[in-house]
Amino acid sequence: MTLDEILKEIKNSEKIVILTHESPDGDAIGSSLATQFLVQELGKEADVIIPEYSRLFNFLPNASNILEESSMEKYDLAIAVDCADEKRIAQKQYFENATKTIVIDHHGTNQMYGDLNFVNPVSPACCEVLVGIFQYFDIKISKEIGTCLLTGIITDTGGFRHEGINPETFEFTADLIRIGVNIPDIYKRVLRTNTRANFELAKRVSNRMEFLEDGKVTFTYIDAKDEEEVGAQPGDHEGLVEIGRDIEGVEVSIFIRQKEKEDKYKVSMRSGNTVNVSDICFVFGGGGHPRAAGCLIQGTVEEVKEKIMKEVKKVL
Ligand code: AMP
Ligand code: MN
Ligand code: MN
Repeated sequence: MTLDEILKEIKNSEKIVILTHESPDGDAIGSSLATQFLVQELGKEADVIIPEYSRLFNFLPNASNILEESSMEKYDLAIAVDCADEKRIAQKQYFENATKTIVIDHHGTNQMYGDLNFVNPVSPACCEVLVGIFQYFDIKISKEIGTCLLTGIITDTGGFRHEGINPETFEFTADLIRIGVNIPDIYKRVLRTNTRANFELAKRVSNRMEFLEDGKVTFTYIDAKDEEEVGAQPGDHEGLVEIGRDIEGVEVSIFIRQKEKEDKYKVSMRSGNTVNVSDICFVFGGGGHPRAAGCLIQGTVEEVKEKIMKEVKKVL
């Protein structure tokens, strides 16, 4: 069983690093911190390296331990969480240089790029995969660990609203309420609280929203200048793709965001009930989940829009 090998690998390693994807969301950060607790419970220490993340997640237990980088050149073991693809790992050199690598994830498009891979594509969050690992290793989930895990589950399921939630999601949540995890507090911090810059970006995104294909598709964007003007910080674009998705009659929402000042856009796609946006993003070298996916496309706003729409029209 892969999990037995993972346990052996952690116990045999001294210098361990935990990494996740760039532009980390709540599942990425929650999974990283929960994995650090897991390693500690097994009697080892691990660095968590996340170069940039939204300050809204600073309330998480041990968030102050998160490093931007490390002076360690070669770790014995690197663990990547919530990341489908090696090239999306933030500070991936620590993964590339590590003696051994482990991947823990829930993306159907995971490339199985670790020496050991534990991937459950039907899990709604990487944090839910980790719940199973804590249980398999028979490690008690404390209130702190539970707060990290539930943050990932709440963010990736949009507050228990997306496909993929299952009886275990709620059973586990019920257990956490019993040990004192404050669900309304997590919910308020990670889903209801927006930064002022996020609100300003949402106004621009709404004003520019185009309705295509008889209102079945929305398209909108922000560029580097917008982010500069509103003083955007890491994570301030989160949730903007959902504005289009949640409009009546919309099946596919497309939101693109300029990558720094380059001629490249980071594409975020969401769908309502039928279209598999992961398949569309896969065409462009990206991936994700059937109802939430992303990729990186070269070009101007108009060029990127055209490239994506060509693929979307095939499946509408
Ligand atoms: P986002 O739109 O950035 O919130 O991403 C939605 C989902 O797609 C997440 O599960 C991401 O991990 C995944 N995803 C986003 N961008 C990429 C990419 N370039 N390659 C692979 N997966 C991606
Ligand atoms: Mn993620
Ligand atoms: Mn995730």
